[in-house]
Amino acid sequence: MILYDLICDNEHEFESWFKSGSAYDVLLKSKSISCPLCETDKVRKAPMAPRISKSGFGEVEHVPAVVDSKPELPAETSEDMTVAMNKAVEAIKELQARIEKKFENVGEKFPEEARKIHYGETDSRGIYGEASFEEAQDLIEEGVEISAVPWQKRRTS
Ligand SMILES: [Zn+2]
Repeated sequence: MILYDLICDNEHEFESWFKSGSAYDVLLKSKSISCPLCETDKVRKAPMAPRISKSGFGEVEHVPAVVDSKPELPAETSEDMTVAMNKAVEAIKELQARIEKKFENVGEKFPEEARKIHYGETDSRGIYGEASFEEAQDLIEEGVEISAVPWQKRRTS
């Protein structure tokens, strides 16, 4: 659909939708376009660029050929990314708070304590602390149940 700005002999400006530019020509020649104010059929295009309707493609003679492609997802803006990041940080903080409340902090002694618990050398309890990647791997290989969680580093008081 094309929207034309039209103007009549009496300088009345009005807008009208047409199926296409050629449809406008046909209607104009058959004097089917009239001014809504003075009803004269002496109308012409106002000196202005035509606008294309975003939703009117179904009535256009030349329909775009591609119909089965998925609509492109809108590119994520950096603003969306920031929101997502903030949400992730909040989730980590929440998880962290729950762990800190329920588990005992054994700090760097984590691999040692985890082993002791695993082998029944100390009270079975929930602990958390630090372990290097290698230490964590060793524990897993030994069958010690541990899980890595994302952790927000904070200053020690
Ligand atoms: Zn008029």
